[in-house]
Amino acid sequence: MIPRLHEISNTQTLYLNFLRRLEKDGFKGDISPEYSERVVSATDNSIYQVLPQGIVCPKNIDDLVLLARLSQEDPFQQVVLSARGGGTGTNGQSLTDGLVVDISKHMNTILEINADERWVRVQTGVVKDQLNAALKPYGLFFAPELSTSNRATIGGMINTDASGQGSVMYGKTRDHVLALKTVLLDGTVINTAPVESTELTQLISGQDRIASIYQTVADIYDQHREEIKALFPPLNRCLTGYDLAHIRDEQQRINLNNVLCGSEGTLGFITEAKLNVLQIPKTSALVCVQYGDFETSLRDAQALMACHPTSIETVDSKVLGLAKDDLIWNSVAQFFPEPTGQTVAGINLVEYTADTDEELKQKVAVIQKELDATCGKAGKAIQYAIAWGHEQVNQVWNMRKKSVGFLGNAQSEARPIPFVEDTAVPPENLADYIMEFRAILDEYNLQYGMFGHVDAGVLHVRPALDMKDPEQEKMVRVITDRLVSLIRKYNGLLWGEHGKGVRSEYAPDFFGNLYPQLQKIKQAFDPRNQLNPGKIATPLESPVQLLKIDEVATRGQLDRTIEQDSWQQYSESMYCNGNGACFNYDSADAMCPSWKATRIRKYSPKGRSSLIREWLRLLSDKQVDTVQESGIANYISWPVSFIPRLFNTLKKHNGEYDFNHEVYDAMSTCLACKSCTGSCPIKVDIPESRAKFLHLYHARYLRPLKDYLIGSLEFLMPTLALWKDIYNKPIRWTPVKWFLRHVAGMVDSPLISDISLKQEMKKHQLPWATALNISRLSKEQKSKAVIYVQDAFTSYFDTQVVVDTLLALRALGFHPMVMPYMANGKPLHVHGFLSRFQKTAFKTADKLKKLQNTGIPLIGLDPSTTLTYRAEYQKYLEGNPVNVMLIQEFLSERQDVFADKTLHSEDAFHILGHCTEKTNAASSIQQWQQVFKVIGLTLNEIKVGCCGMAGTFGHETRNQDISRKIYELSWQGPVKNPKNQGKLLTTGYSCRSQVKRYEHQILLHPMQQILKSLSETND
Ligand SMILES: Cc1cc2nc3c(=O)[nH]c(=O)nc-3n(C[C@H](O)[C@H](O)[C@H](O)COP(=O)(O)OP(=O)(O)OC[C@H]3O[C@@H](n4cnc5c(N)ncnc54)[C@H](O)[C@@H]3O)c2cc1C
Ligand code: SF4
Ligand code: SF4
Repeated sequence: MIPRLHEISNTQTLYLNFLRRLEKDGFKGDISPEYSERVVSATDNSIYQVLPQGIVCPKNIDDLVLLARLSQEDPFQQVVLSARGGGTGTNGQSLTDGLVVDISKHMNTILEINADERWVRVQTGVVKDQLNAALKPYGLFFAPELSTSNRATIGGMINTDASGQGSVMYGKTRDHVLALKTVLLDGTVINTAPVESTELTQLISGQDRIASIYQTVADIYDQHREEIKALFPPLNRCLTGYDLAHIRDEQQRINLNNVLCGSEGTLGFITEAKLNVLQIPKTSALVCVQYGDFETSLRDAQALMACHPTSIETVDSKVLGLAKDDLIWNSVAQFFPEPTGQTVAGINLVEYTADTDEELKQKVAVIQKELDATCGKAGKAIQYAIAWGHEQVNQVWNMRKKSVGFLGNAQSEARPIPFVEDTAVPPENLADYIMEFRAILDEYNLQYGMFGHVDAGVLHVRPALDMKDPEQEKMVRVITDRLVSLIRKYNGLLWGEHGKGVRSEYAPDFFGNLYPQLQKIKQAFDPRNQLNPGKIATPLESPVQLLKIDEVATRGQLDRTIEQDSWQQYSESMYCNGNGACFNYDSADAMCPSWKATRIRKYSPKGRSSLIREWLRLLSDKQVDTVQESGIANYISWPVSFIPRLFNTLKKHNGEYDFNHEVYDAMSTCLACKSCTGSCPIKVDIPESRAKFLHLYHARYLRPLKDYLIGSLEFLMPTLALWKDIYNKPIRWTPVKWFLRHVAGMVDSPLISDISLKQEMKKHQLPWATALNISRLSKEQKSKAVIYVQDAFTSYFDTQVVVDTLLALRALGFHPMVMPYMANGKPLHVHGFLSRFQKTAFKTADKLKKLQNTGIPLIGLDPSTTLTYRAEYQKYLEGNPVNVMLIQEFLSERQDVFADKTLHSEDAFHILGHCTEKTNAASSIQQWQQVFKVIGLTLNEIKVGCCGMAGTFGHETRNQDISRKIYELSWQGPVKNPKNQGKLLTTGYSCRSQVKRYEHQILLHPMQQILKSLSETND
């Protein structure tokens, strides 16, 4: 059995005392020195891994003032504090070995929208897309764009001076900041906006920290004006991080906001921002131009700039190829038609925005004329296509935004990593610079993909390195140093838009004689170097050095200590690169319900994969081979293991620490909804790692009773159904309910259906899929035959749905047959009964394969159960996979059979998608829409996240709060909306159960609606 893991790195006494004082002094937010939370906060999207001493999540500005003041008291002057937003930095910006101050968790309110004056006031934990969703009804938006817009915070954007696509038109974050509220380290709250000279005189006359700060920056600008002018390159991406060039604005007012923007948490905690917002252009178009090679696309971008677009982005063949392998390609393929006889190796995405269709057409006509005249010529594009309107344009941008993720999903140990990923040069130098850049990477035989903002001269490049290999790790220094020289040659910058972080090492070199001026600023704000030290600049009088790119601990250094076999066994989680896509703020997006409901980072795919990695590392330290342990756990008998497990479990109840419990806790809140597997760009599969972990955890600790109940349910159902009254009646009795809730750990157990599938099949003369019945099919019947594969939940708890589905199939012209019931095993997998799952899968797959060999298609109704056949069955069984189609996949392939059933109806319905289905079978909603369209019905999608039930998760006592919270996030609204009554459809058994128990409403399955509509017409 796996050992107890208690040799962890404990929080230092200094920090424990600090956290205790915080609590004592009335800190309202969350305080956590827990190891699991620290592990999860030890990474961002960079190559680094730095374990903090603890995490605090302030509730409000008073908490930050308290935190700052306390850090100035005598015993705590060595305490280090690093603010954190979304944690999406690519260069260790928010990593610290001190305290993480997570501003995103509680301080995320949009405080004021002034549509008339076009500004907004927000707390800095607000996510960029959250803000734009709130602004949309006013026709306004916050313009600076970045690929991480669904999880990066305004605080993070301000502190890295973020920008991205469209920056030539809209500028950087700094250009939209009107005022900031910042907590300084002495506890002073400073409000900053441009200051006229009279006000400056007044401010400087004081004796406090504010006076000293204003005096310092004014002096720097006034004394070094010429030097500053001479140093800063004329780039769209000007040098940020204490932006000396913009200390005074055009009206010569001192603007401290320009110093704070890009300061990466080294000057203070920025708590509120007043931001300038713009009118959303009414319409847009995206010209998708294809090229035979990447260099041509780079060079042609300069020519296309003459056609005055809003922005131009480029993507190379590598990224394009990976995008084509992703489900997202379905939504954009039409804009990238394959040219005959030529290979596309680069694309330019040229965007136009306008307030009227007419204006848009006129603007696009300019580039159309240019492209029509040049396409096919040497050094020009092959062909182009145009996406018209926001919806189509956003589809392509979403594909582009996922590009970094695609790169991270390379299928080898060498993965694309950020360290020189956002260099910027004047756009006219870009093509030459990139050719030399590529030559350097080619010299070291490194793989890479490239994409970026050609209009601004910023190209994103992530060379692939296996950071577990010490030799490859050295390349970070080699490549960066060579790149720095190359950038100098082309008059550019190492940090085009992602900020400096650990790369601040190069700041003294880039700033030259002006670097001491940066140090003076740091000194004025943070004389003891307590705020995110080692980044941007050190205080002038401090002997401490900036961090160095190869002296900060990397993830690779820790990962390489994990046993190879264990690394491979858990490979589905090992490659999480911390890009944070699983912290998506949008409640109508399926990704990750447990994170959304709790806002606790360890309850996210990133959190869980970080914990699995650390768990494997601690096990490897003890020379434990998890592959071997899993094998032993498979064979060791229950009576043999019971006594030691009981003993260990008693110690657990007595509070004995074991890191295994921290991992168990994080896994227990996972719904196994598989949205991570479908939506994560790296395809991190937490349910798979969770199953393997639980398998080993319960070889050491006893399982709760509910696990056995859930695991055996599928096998008990046929027998329970025979005695349904004996099951259904007691389950409603209060003492039984009490027992189930408090002892068995289950609530709201569903009742077995009143009707029996067997009897209904007899009544409607629906045949079983037996060898005899199949052999008796006529050729005509066989061509329309389809075998329905039952799942336990729908067959026994929602039998009417199965009957209606079979009747609907018949009404559509098919010949449905029913496979005799066999357990699928999904609940066993979810709870980590892996050997029983494998045996079940083997047996069921054997039967399915026999039926599959008849040539008749197999279909399943419940999405999660059906998708198990193609996902988990594939992993656990050798040989040919079984192909059980989702019903809509089958119907959309066989539209010919029911093309004559068109109803010419005005009826429109709304589908609430099932999260596993939407994320793991991306076309599923479109397929239903297509099927409905053929029948003559309209089906619209209402975007929702997870319903909160996810199999049996919502029935477990301990999950009640989280299950309801998830339901309330996105399902409750549309279900309660009176306008939707009788119109809502959903495919999942779980989703229907959840709506039934919370709203007492029955939602129909789309097949039931089809049957209803067909029957009503026939009546
Ligand atoms: C896949 C990917 C794509 C990216 N694409 C872009 C892009 O297109 N454009 C771009 O500009 N960047 C991009 N980035 C980088 C990153 O998303 C941005 O730097 C972003 O602005 C960081 O926001 P965050 O909320 O995650 O901040 P964090 O990473 O949490 O913090 C960033 C810095 O800000 C500080 N900070 C955060 N909040 C506060 C606060 N309230 N007060 C004081 N200091 C604070 C932190 O200490 C840290 O130094 C990308 C990153 C990834 C992983
Ligand atoms: S789990 Fe996936 S989406 Fe989340 S941080 Fe890791 S790689 Fe990104
Ligand atoms: S399976 Fe669902 S709940 Fe679990 S980590 Fe993945 S997205 Fe989150």
